[in-house]
Amino acid sequence: MLRSTRAIFAAVLVNISYAQKQPCCDTLTASTISELVTYPSQLAYNASIASYFDGKSRLTPNCIVQPKTAEDVSTIIKVLTAEELSVPCRFAVRSGGHTPIPGSNNVDDGVTIDLLYMNSTTYNAETQIASVKPAARWGSVYQTLEPLGRMVAGGRGSTVGVGGFLLGGGISHYAPRVGLSCDNVVNFQVVLADGSIVNANKTSNADLFRALKGGSSNFGIVTRYDMETFGNEDLWGGIVTYPASTADHHFKALVNFGLNPDRDPNAALIVFQGYSTASPTDVVRAAFDYTRPVTRPDAYKEFFEVATNISDTTKIQPMSAIAAEFGSDTTKRVQFRTLSFKIDLATIQETARLYKIVITELQAKASGQWRVSCLHQVWATSYTANSTVRGGNVLGMERYIENFIMYQSYLSWSEAKDDELFIGLGKMLTDGIQKFTTEKGTAVDYLYLNYADKDQDPLMGYGDDQVAFMRVVASKYDPTGVYQRLMPGGFKISHV
Ligand SMILES: Cc1cc2nc3c(=O)[nH]c(=O)nc-3n(C[C@H](O)[C@H](O)[C@H](O)COP(=O)(O)OP(=O)(O)OC[C@H]3O[C@@H](n4cnc5c(N)ncnc54)[C@H](O)[C@@H]3O)c2cc1C
Repeated sequence: MLRSTRAIFAAVLVNISYAQKQPCCDTLTASTISELVTYPSQLAYNASIASYFDGKSRLTPNCIVQPKTAEDVSTIIKVLTAEELSVPCRFAVRSGGHTPIPGSNNVDDGVTIDLLYMNSTTYNAETQIASVKPAARWGSVYQTLEPLGRMVAGGRGSTVGVGGFLLGGGISHYAPRVGLSCDNVVNFQVVLADGSIVNANKTSNADLFRALKGGSSNFGIVTRYDMETFGNEDLWGGIVTYPASTADHHFKALVNFGLNPDRDPNAALIVFQGYSTASPTDVVRAAFDYTRPVTRPDAYKEFFEVATNISDTTKIQPMSAIAAEFGSDTTKRVQFRTLSFKIDLATIQETARLYKIVITELQAKASGQWRVSCLHQVWATSYTANSTVRGGNVLGMERYIENFIMYQSYLSWSEAKDDELFIGLGKMLTDGIQKFTTEKGTAVDYLYLNYADKDQDPLMGYGDDQVAFMRVVASKYDPTGVYQRLMPGGFKISHV
């Protein structure tokens, strides 16, 4: 009894000291949604911070507010932007919390709006539309839809959040068949800068609808995504791990696969090199995902010529099971970087050469547990047609008349003291590839926002006309720049 009284007293003291430090939290605590606010050292606060995917992103907001409805989000925005406040309230928005860029989804000395409780998926059989809340994880979406015989084009890993994924584009196993995931959204429910709750779709606020597909957090807080569904079938897929000596064969097969004009639209593929201290052998992996229940389909014939493998998880299984295999638990420290280039064997081989230099450096200098994966995926021009018929997006894909490779480096490590080493080597890797592609004429200026690092500029990579369009939409729906000034994290129009 004494202990619990002490705990309550301590929590009140914490509330008071943080509220005094931060009038924005104070105002939230004094408003009608006070029970949604949590402070440092409280359980809900600590659980929220601990659940960020990337350890570097576990910042210290003055308070975290966890809305349950779009109306709560509206109230929060009205409170944080109220004229009578003595200080500007800086805030961040978090859905799944998977972006490994500190400050993009959390904020030191500000307010973090954690959409944690807005995580449901509902299905309307009449319209065949699934309504998904932003903090749902893709695994939960698939588990809800599969028993109903329906599916959506969502993330490949079960743990990834819906909110950020869909605003950055979204690549699913179904992308060659139905296009990017953002283009499968038919309606966004959005809380605008003045706190109003609006819908954005092909006929209502159509400019906002297009801007949200790739434009990230520049226009409002999305509180519901209504997505097209299609009939659910099991997939054939999994990850096959091969000795590194087979890398060249895989690279050649990737080139032929990516340039094949008759590519089977059910065939998704990632080819990646990988090394991990947990299993310290340099390997090459192929993630095959065929969106129909067909074992070892012909689409991957050239890859199947490599008979020797180290392990093979491929089988016919539901999307939820494949997503669980791709899912990744909250890890220590992570860096993503990206760039794009033409489908060219010499360029892919150069990425492999630079990858080896990085691994050698890390073997000599890094401590603790670490892992490096370098992923090659085909970015298909077919995504454009899928987008245009559904109202378009802002990725500027119509500029590309040939498929290209979207490259992602993914470094993770356990020791904070190694941050500089990993971050520096990751940058050296993509800078080196960039230099090679520029000299060889294989560079493609597109940067995939969901894999970009803080110093990269994916919005600029969409092209000048798309940037100009996003600026017009941002100033129309957010004339005072709430989502630029007060919510500075993430990729911003004002920065480009
Ligand atoms: C293990 C792993 C697997 C991945 N797999 C894939 C994949 O298969 N395909 C792919 O395309 N990408 C993939 N990604 C990248 C992923 O798409 C991005 O990290 C994405 O941002 C994650 O969404 P989230 O909701 O977890 O993001 P968060 O980190 O919560 O948010 C990302 C950004 O979006 C903003 N934001 C989030 N929700 C909202 C909202 N409701 N309204 C307004 N702004 C919002 C945030 O403020 C932040 O700036 C993967 C990432 C990881 C770590």
